[in-house]
Amino acid sequence: MVKYKSAEEFALIRESADLLGRAHAEVAKIVKAGVKTIELDKRAEEFIRDHGAYPSFKGFNGFPSSLCISVNEVVVHGFPSEYVLKEGDIVSIDCGVLLNGYHSDSAYTYPVGTINQQTKKLLEITKKSLYDGIDQFLSGGRIGDVGYAIQQTVQAHHFTVVRELVGHGVGRELHEEPDVPNYGKRGKGSKIQEGLVIAIEPMVNMGTRHVVQEKDGWTIRTQDRKPSAHFEHTVGILNGKPEILTTFKYIEQVLNS
Ligand code: MG
Ligand code: MG
Repeated sequence: MVKYKSAEEFALIRESADLLGRAHAEVAKIVKAGVKTIELDKRAEEFIRDHGAYPSFKGFNGFPSSLCISVNEVVVHGFPSEYVLKEGDIVSIDCGVLLNGYHSDSAYTYPVGTINQQTKKLLEITKKSLYDGIDQFLSGGRIGDVGYAIQQTVQAHHFTVVRELVGHGVGRELHEEPDVPNYGKRGKGSKIQEGLVIAIEPMVNMGTRHVVQEKDGWTIRTQDRKPSAHFEHTVGILNGKPEILTTFKYIEQVLNS
């Protein structure tokens, strides 16, 4: 059952989402070659707890950390570790915040130093596909409209959409109904209507769309070990209008400074 949110709930989610954006920016400050990914996790967790909130992922279905950190061929759900980021890597940081009893969820993929042209394109197109999907998140539409738009953008650039993992409703639970696939058919899927809050999160591969799960039971990587990127926003419909609840503005302030 989809739990539609009131204006009051939107206000609470907005606060959660703003803190999430600022937590991402704290991580953005220290994403560079020579940094262990566990240090990124530590920074995010401290920042979130210092602001009276809880990192949504920690303990979720037994996940041990505050961030999912997914480097290069890892698509999503990578563990923070002793791995040291190196020039030319890409690293996806996925984070959730629980504040006021409401979750927010967003992800951003960073280049580490200089990356090759094709990987740069992968990041640009994955982010573009997120916003192209969001442009189709309209009251009266269907979830399939969003997935269709994402898939069109990705495939037009000869990249591929991961199908095994999808976006989701967001609210009192981190993962609520409905599922939000990053592929689909226009006019199909759940209705987009007043009070719906979802995470839209394209996962885009440079090579094959197929993925495998590592033996750790979490880490998802590309079957061909080519790179994968991931961008995510939490969005909602209030007063008939779409609203992007999470934000990359704090991240981008750091990246452009
Ligand atoms: Mg996420
Ligand atoms: Mg999500």
